[in-house]
This record gives sequence, C-alpha cells and structure tokens, in this order.
Amino acid sequence: PRRIHDAPARQVAKAPDRIALVEDGAFWTYGELNQRVTETATVLSSLGIRPGDRMIIVSENCIALAALLLAASKLDAWAIVANPRLSARELDQIRGHSGARRMLFTSGISKEAAAHAARYGAERRQVGPLAEIGVGPLNESAAVEPVVADPAKQVAVLIYTSGTTGTPKGVMLSHDNLLISARTTAHFRKMTEGDKIYLVLPISHIVGISLLIMTLMVGGTVRMVSKYDPAATAKAIAEEGVTILNGVPATYQRLLEYKSISGAQQFARGKLRLIAVAGAPLDLNLKSRVEQEFGLPLLNGYGITECSPGIAGVRFDAPRADQAVGTLLPGVEARVRTIDGIPTTRGEVGELHVRGRNVMLGYYRAPELTAKVIDSEGWFNTGDLARFDGDCLYIVGRTKEMIIRSGFNVYPAEIEAVLSSHKDVVQSAVVGRAADGNEEVVAFVQLLPGSCTTRDDLMEFVRFQLTSYKRPSEIIVLDALPATSTGKILKHKLAESLAGEAA
Ligand code: ATP
Repeated sequence: PRRIHDAPARQVAKAPDRIALVEDGAFWTYGELNQRVTETATVLSSLGIRPGDRMIIVSENCIALAALLLAASKLDAWAIVANPRLSARELDQIRGHSGARRMLFTSGISKEAAAHAARYGAERRQVGPLAEIGVGPLNESAAVEPVVADPAKQVAVLIYTSGTTGTPKGVMLSHDNLLISARTTAHFRKMTEGDKIYLVLPISHIVGISLLIMTLMVGGTVRMVSKYDPAATAKAIAEEGVTILNGVPATYQRLLEYKSISGAQQFARGKLRLIAVAGAPLDLNLKSRVEQEFGLPLLNGYGITECSPGIAGVRFDAPRADQAVGTLLPGVEARVRTIDGIPTTRGEVGELHVRGRNVMLGYYRAPELTAKVIDSEGWFNTGDLARFDGDCLYIVGRTKEMIIRSGFNVYPAEIEAVLSSHKDVVQSAVVGRAADGNEEVVAFVQLLPGSCTTRDDLMEFVRFQLTSYKRPSEIIVLDALPATSTGKILKHKLAESLAGEAA
C-alpha cells in the first residue's frame, strides 16, 4: 500500500466479507469499509476539505473515526485525531496551531465530544454513511499545504503529543512512516487475518493509530473500544474471540484492580494469544502479576510518536523476564551518545538516537525545533536515556528527567521501580528539586486505598535498596498522581508543584 487507506482496500480483493471493524452493536466488512471510506471522502470534499488541508476529528475510538481518518487520507488532507478528553484550552491550542479547515466531532457516542462540538457551534449532520456527526464551521482562511505524490513525503497525520514534558508539538507523520512502522510490528508480532485486536488505546495516540493500521493491513479485525472499562474488557476477552490486547501499564493495572475488587477467580483467556505493553516504564511487579493472571508473557515494546512509534520490542518467540524493551525492530538503526554527542562504549548509558524510514518528517510549523532533534544525517535524538546489553535495549529514563545530585546521575525510573515494588504502593514518580545549587530527589507515591504504610516506612524500605545519593530527600503521598489520558504521569506538574511550594 502507498497510502494508509490502501491498507484495508487491498483486503477487499482477497476477502470482502471478512470483518474489518466492530463496535458495540455494529460491524463493517472490508468491502463495506472500503465503500464507505469512498463515500465519506466525497462528502468531506463537499464540506470544503481540500487536499493539503488539516482536518481535526474529535473522537473516541469508533467505526466512524476510522472512516473519517481513511477518507482524509483518500483526499490527501492531514488528519488530526484529538482525544475528546482534552480540555477546551488544549483543543483551542491544537486548532490554532494547526490552522485546521474544519473540526468534526463524533458526538453521538461521547459526552465530552458533544460538549466540545457545542462550544465550537458545530452542526449535527449526516456525513455519508456515518451516523450523525458534529460538523464545525469552515475556517475560510485556512492555508493549504502542498500535496506530494511521494508517500514518504506526504503527511498522513499530525499528532500532537500528549505533552508529558509540557509543550505540545505537532508531529508530522507520512504515509510511509505509518505503513512501515505498522508492517514491521505486524511481522514482529506474527499477526495474521485471524487476529482480532481489542483496541482500547486511543486512536488519537500514535500507538492506537498504528495498531489500527497494522490490523487492517493484515486483514484482521479491530474491536473498537470507546472508553476503557476493565469489566467489559475481561468479558470481551472471554467471549468475543479477542486474540490481541495492547495497553499501557495503566491498562493492565486497572484490569488487575478490577479483578481484585470483583473477586473473580481467574480471567477466562478465550482465544487471547498475545498481550503487549508500551508507552511508559514497565513495573516488574505489575508484569509478573499480569503474566500470572493471563498465563501469557507480557511483551514490552518501546516507541515514541516521532518514530511512528516503533523502535524496539520483545520478540513474540523470545519473551523476557526483565524490564528490557527488546531488540530493535528491523529497519531501525540506533546509536547511544553522551549528552554532548560523543559515542559511548557499548553497554554504557547515554542518549538514544534512531534512524530509519519510521522517523517523522518534522514538527509542524517549528523548523528550529525539528533541527534540534534530527541532524543532517537523519539521526533523531529520542531524548531517552538507554543502554544496550548485547542486542537487547533498556530504557533508563528521559534526559530531561535525569537528576544530578552531588555530581552523581540519578535515574528516576530506578527509584520508581524500587518504590513500586513495595506491596502498598500503586505507583510512584520521582522528580528533581533544586536546592542550594544541587538537586534533591523527591518521590511522589500513591498508596493502595486503606493502606497504613507511612512515609517513614517507605524511607526505611528504600534505605536497604538504594545507595544514599539515590534515596529521596522527601516522599510525598498523594491520593492520585496527575496523568495523561493514556495513564502517563505528568511529571512536569509534580515538579511545578514543588517549585510553587518553594516560592
Ligand atoms: P512528550 O513528548 O510531549 O513528553 P509523550 O511522553 O506522551 O509526550 P510519546 O511519544 O507518547 O510522548 O511517548 C514516548 C516516550 O514514552 C518515550 O520517549 C519514552 O520515554 C516513553 N516510553 C515509551 N515506551 C516505553 C517503554 N516500554 N519503557 C519505558 N519508557 C517508554
């Protein structure tokens, strides 16, 4: 396939009646999907969407979202999928920055999307084969971007990163970027047309969109999940023939919490054959509990929006017991450098640079920012600290989050792993705090409801496991840690709360 909408179109010749998409109460075959994408593209064009326009789709995972996304590709418009759970301020920011021609809202299924639609004065309309959606006003002055025939240069989607580090950036991914990354991962995970994926990760996020494309590419079935509900997930796995579940650590964490609350005996595994996790550091405690529950290895994978997202993964046929993110995906080159760009010796920790056809075209309307992360030879600096052990890659943390205490490098992930191994700790986050020209280690923890563990107990607990410079100067217990919709902890908010306290 050359464009993302070609992926499902190719399946039509092979098996038009195979089921492509399923949501509660509806399904589309590959034949229907292809037909409806064409119809939707015609309607979008009549709504003023031109090749080279940006189009925002505010939507949770559903069939209509897939149709709109693929129809945008057919029109050579750039799709921006926005999570309805974004705040009004965040959505305004994306609209302003992208200069979108229109915003569309699949408000039928989502209260949040309906609220956004009302705020922008969207009209409810029937768009081709889709149930009614909200159609926002036309932005008459929207600029048109050039359209290029080369799928490696034409932007397919613009993804605004969730901003765990504070500043939202529009990542331009080409058709080639998405197709290459999806194909490699599908091969790596041995996906076939017999697979049915439970798509609970939002399509507004790179992992969600990549899973959608890779499943349609192999002719499998995508089970759309608009809102994550652990009880519904357990039921679908038991009864609907789901073969693959992908999540972020929080997906699995909540599944286990549900199980302990409901008192269910064992999860019925049904046809489930593969469980995978990515997007944030994997806690080993969580990993072993999940593996015990499912009787399957939990395969870790590492990626970043700017790399569409796949960089490394644990092989299906070579599961691992540790936190390793596995081996590099075929076609991805990597090197480890010091922060000053000097080559490290193999096995040493440094910044991970990546090169390959999966690396983004750049940040939209931010050439200086792009030049900061991609050099003239095409190497992209992930901003993650990593090390290789043989072929196996370990992510140690983020450069920006590294704490330098009395001249020693402290990697928050290591301290979080120790804290999270405590039986009463649900999750933890470690940040640095400036103190007299030095940096202190501060830990935030969320405890199990009703636990009697105190800060002093936790201090005592880490004392036996961490050398003195790594031990937190302070441990702060919170009811919940601030997180993105994909469950990633917003560390900059925690760091800001410390700065505010000092001021
Ligand atoms: P921003 O770039 O604005 O901070 P974000 O954190 O949401 O937004 P993503 O592209 O969604 O950006 O996340 C990529 C990051 O997630 C990686 O750079 C890495 O730090 C982390 N990450 C992803 N997978 C793993 C993993 N398996 N283990 C450890 N960290 C991971």
